[in-house]
Amino acid sequence: MPGAFAFTLTARDGKARSGRLQTPHGDVETPAFMPVGTRGAVRGVTQRTLEEAGASIVLANTYHLYLRPGDDLIAERGGLHRFIGWPGPILTDSGGYQIFSLGPLVKISEAGARFQSHHDGSRHELTPERVVDIQAQLGPDIAMVLDECLAAPASEAATAASLDLTLRWARRARDRFEQLRAGPVDGVTVSNPGQAQFGIVQGGIYPHLREKSAAALRAIGFESYAIGGLSVGESVETMYDVVAHTAPLLPEDTPRYLMGTGMPDDLVECVARGIDMFDCVLPTRNARNGQVFTPDGPINLRNARFARDDRPIDETCPCDTCRRHSRAYLRHLFQNREMNGGTLASVHNLVFYLDTLRRIRQAIGFGSFEQFRQDFHRRFSRTPLSS
Ligand SMILES: [Zn+2]
Repeated sequence: MPGAFAFTLTARDGKARSGRLQTPHGDVETPAFMPVGTRGAVRGVTQRTLEEAGASIVLANTYHLYLRPGDDLIAERGGLHRFIGWPGPILTDSGGYQIFSLGPLVKISEAGARFQSHHDGSRHELTPERVVDIQAQLGPDIAMVLDECLAAPASEAATAASLDLTLRWARRARDRFEQLRAGPVDGVTVSNPGQAQFGIVQGGIYPHLREKSAAALRAIGFESYAIGGLSVGESVETMYDVVAHTAPLLPEDTPRYLMGTGMPDDLVECVARGIDMFDCVLPTRNARNGQVFTPDGPINLRNARFARDDRPIDETCPCDTCRRHSRAYLRHLFQNREMNGGTLASVHNLVFYLDTLRRIRQAIGFGSFEQFRQDFHRRFSRTPLSS
């Protein structure tokens, strides 16, 4: 049902915004955090647990699902929502970042990206059009365009050339998207006719390139826009500056998605600069290594000092892990490589992120976001706590 995508701002507090994103598979309250389920699964966490943790939208990856099990297979099963058993909203990343991480295995041309599979060395070519087709078949509610991702630090000249290519690719991606909307295309099953497409603002750390990118993408016209190419090695202050400069270049009345960021305090700071949507592997990846978040900062459950600690990870956390289990038990699980350790820690970290966003939305609604922000930073340390 084309037109099912809509965004309504519900409150503003400084530059922070709260809103409601409508998709064909349900609504998302923003600012929102999207747990990352690259291959259609958030590692160690079932879809039911994600729902209980308060996730309203999840992220999956086009590149990985294209290679395995393949977009044809998923389209035959009725699309990604049915295949993975997640009835709510889904966003798929284009896979640009994953493709460009292949290094010597990838060759970029005007046409697209040619690469060898990291699974079996088989040869593939992904063009901007092909990535749109694959996402049409997968059927997420939000599809991201293919963009070129540069490794940081990149020179201004290299960033400018890459941006021009990414903008030509964006134009082609939108043309293909509109072609699929207008009528059937041979060999492409449209699994979700209400799908929205987001453009991605690139331009590295160079303000005038970010301006050029945002203006060109808005001229093409997408349902909304993301900020890409950050959290790739630049300093936190630089990332905040680029977000502060770029967010106001995007439309007021559509959601702004900051890709692949970050630590809990980054989320607070980027909401303060006008961001509405986030994704990051950090809460689940760190959890599998025993690192869990508390309002005071991260702790590592493998640490010997937790061997006889009867307290939960966080006394104030509403998650099932904290209601039921002690740090001593969780440490025991990690020491013995029991997979429940990673699961229980992942549940806690996801609830920590999702609950932080819930409290942010509440504070924006009450007009007390600045107070929330100060209280959050007064306690939270980015570096792991040693006591
Ligand atoms: Zn917890």
